[in-house]
Amino acid sequence: MDWEAVPAAAAAGREIHELLVELYPICRSISGDGVRATFDMLARLVSLEITEVPSGSAAFDWTVPREWNIRDAWIAGPDGERVVDFRDSNLHVVGYSTPVRRRLSLEELRNHLHTHPERPDWIPFRTSYYNENWGFCLSQRQLDALPEGDYEVCIDSTLSDGSITYAEAVIPGRHEDEVLISTYSCHPSLANDNCSGIALVAVLGRYLSRMRLRYTYRLLFSPGSIGPLSWLAANEGTLHRIKHGLVASCVGDPGGPTSKRSRRGTAEIDRAAAVVLRDRGGDHAIRDFVPLGGDERQFCSPGIDLPVGALSRTPADEFAEYHSSADDTGFVKAEFLGDSFDLYLSVIDVLERNARYENLNPKGEPQLGKRGLYRGIAGGSNREVALLWALNLSDGDHDLLAIADRSGQSFSSIRAAADALEAVGLLRLL
Ligand code: ZN
Repeated sequence: MDWEAVPAAAAAGREIHELLVELYPICRSISGDGVRATFDMLARLVSLEITEVPSGSAAFDWTVPREWNIRDAWIAGPDGERVVDFRDSNLHVVGYSTPVRRRLSLEELRNHLHTHPERPDWIPFRTSYYNENWGFCLSQRQLDALPEGDYEVCIDSTLSDGSITYAEAVIPGRHEDEVLISTYSCHPSLANDNCSGIALVAVLGRYLSRMRLRYTYRLLFSPGSIGPLSWLAANEGTLHRIKHGLVASCVGDPGGPTSKRSRRGTAEIDRAAAVVLRDRGGDHAIRDFVPLGGDERQFCSPGIDLPVGALSRTPADEFAEYHSSADDTGFVKAEFLGDSFDLYLSVIDVLERNARYENLNPKGEPQLGKRGLYRGIAGGSNREVALLWALNLSDGDHDLLAIADRSGQSFSSIRAAADALEAVGLLRLL
């Protein structure tokens, strides 16, 4: 992979953060014009193919819901002043709220209000996609300050037949085999979850487009759950092309990286993420697959079972700011976005350069000295250790990743050893 085509992590982090700040104010949901406006912005970086899936379409066991759009929403107090206003924060309205305009008492209104009692200054994020309802979210302090009396509520929304929208960027490589990177585009003003994922994948796409690649890369931006379900249902005939995949989410917070294995557990993507995290060092976590979490649930459902893992920093719902107004553009930092960008590219680099070799001199160790590969330093240098491992495990079964894993040597050193051994005719690419 051509690393010279990409900026340093710090510069990429700043670029991703700038895009994230632009994406953040848009009121997105699982359908509607906010998603389309988001894709318009991304189309400046990568060329996108947009698909509209009409309301009522089947996606396996699911049905695409009606399209939701919102123009304004507010609660006015007994004195007629707005006490909660959608224009201050789009989190104030429960996502997919049905239209409403009525007067009601504070007692009646309370049934439609949601707060975050443990964090009295934060506005929670709530949705009601598949169950028609309406509501407002506000801080506990705002709620506590509401006087008794009659209130007027207005939600100027529409819920009608339309479509959900997903976008794909396909970056061609030498092979038809694909790497899928999927992220969800359905959250309103929440920065880590998941403006960070959208911005990272778009910027990644921008740089991958400039590279000469082995695999074809398919970037998928779609609403959580119903997006991947609809996409999988529409593309069942070509899923065999997907050789590796990752779900990108929550990539801008201060926590260390977390890799979640695919359902297969030992897929090349699982092994690549583990070796990259090991080689980079630092605080990180590797977790097994569980049928909970994000869109990997759909890609790893038993009838689909694609080798798709998840790569995040702190996973969704494990950071305090999750699904609240505190998950804002100050919570995510360019530094961490840049580190995540570097991590994604490192995993891609391993996928691009992994291979299997056959040792052409498997009976006894070949004499490295006469081929200029052995410098005779007592105990052997790291380079020689990598050469010996690459020779020993190049039996057709082990790929370079497996050799890096078993030897404890970095992927780069094993890759370099294989190149050197191939150059002197000791290894043959399979
Ligand atoms: Zn979320």
